[in-house]
Amino acid sequence: MDLKALIREIPDFPQPGISFKDISTVIGNAQAFHYIIEELAKGFRADRPEVVVGIESRGYIIGAPLAYALGAGFILVRKPGKLPAATERIDYTLEYGENSLEIHKDAIRPGQRVLIVDDILATGGTVSATAELVRRLGGEIIGYAFLAELDALQGRTKLDGAPIISLVHYE
Ligand code: IMP
Repeated sequence: MDLKALIREIPDFPQPGISFKDISTVIGNAQAFHYIIEELAKGFRADRPEVVVGIESRGYIIGAPLAYALGAGFILVRKPGKLPAATERIDYTLEYGENSLEIHKDAIRPGQRVLIVDDILATGGTVSATAELVRRLGGEIIGYAFLAELDALQGRTKLDGAPIISLVHYE
């Protein structure tokens, strides 16, 4: 299925020079949404993830149905101040400033097999920070799943060698 044709590109959003990939158009398509989840599930089923970690907020759109399809639990990584129980927090630098993410300290048991999911892999800052949170809790990262990847930004070089599947690639 030609997913790229269904992802809308918005020039100069959120700032001049950026071509924003708007996934609302592809997830709004019933066949495409089903295909995305089935393809990613097929890619990681043999690795038997026990939990899927989704990154706020578009990572939830793909991560939650993917966890369901894989028979795994679903874990939230959220922006600061949103999770109610004790959290592990990471502060990291992005191209345009600082950011922080949190996970509940008891969300992952040591040794649990974890699949990390987001909508887009760009510079890799967000997902590598998430991977660090998972490692701090003792999770074993078995892979990374994305709807799309911006290849030129080389985000995958920031990850640790576990398999990465992106269904759509942009140069
Ligand atoms: P990174 O940390 O630079 O890899 O950026 C990835 C994060 O920014 C992900 O959580 C994405 O949701 C978001 N992101 C980056 N570029 C785009 C885009 O073109 N469309 C939608 N989200 C994007």
